[in-house]
Amino acid sequence: MPLSPATVARLTDLLRQGATDRAAARELGIDRSTVGRHRARLGIERAPKPPATTRSTLTVEEKCRTFLRPVEAGHMEWGGRRTKSSSTPVFTHHERTYTARTVAFRIAKGRAPEGYVTAECDHEGCVAPEHMEDEPGRTRVRAALAIITGQETERPECARGHRTAEQRRYLPDGSPYCGACQSATKAAQRAREKAQAGR
Ligand SMILES: [Zn+2]
Ligand SMILES: [Zn+2]
Repeated sequence: MPLSPATVARLTDLLRQGATDRAAARELGIDRSTVGRHRARLGIERAPKPPATTRSTLTVEEKCRTFLRPVEAGHMEWGGRRTKSSSTPVFTHHERTYTARTVAFRIAKGRAPEGYVTAECDHEGCVAPEHMEDEPGRTRVRAALAIITGQETERPECARGHRTAEQRRYLPDGSPYCGACQSATKAAQRAREKAQAGR
């Protein structure tokens, strides 16, 4: 059955735009051999096969930046998706999921973080690369706050004998606590929960 002039015109357009035989056939509801014959008559070369997956040419850091939305005073908000469970800002790059704050940290510092990353500024949910701190950075920032607010103590050890120099951590308001004690408490809590769940 000959193609209608409108179909021929549309097919010609599609082939000139680089459509594959398969795509053109699907679009117009005609067979691929008809498309092939038409292509030969027009002298248009076969379209190259599309890549298996459309992979972003951006680096992980560049992709992360596309979701950063500057707000006031250098803070940035997340324009991408979040995890359902904890609302953590995340994005996908080459089929892998990344935490926005971890990549934002790398953008600013040029290295991977130690431990988890938090925003050490007063803007709720900030993801500005310059405001991200990892464990050592966070401890430094909060230790300075502890001194300013008079919460820093001179004790070399905690009540259970962990050395302050290595184990001291701080809450966002600068209150000091022992990191080793907190880890032990958390581990004990997890063990209790596991024991309860197993019952
Ligand atoms: Zn901020
Ligand atoms: Zn301790």
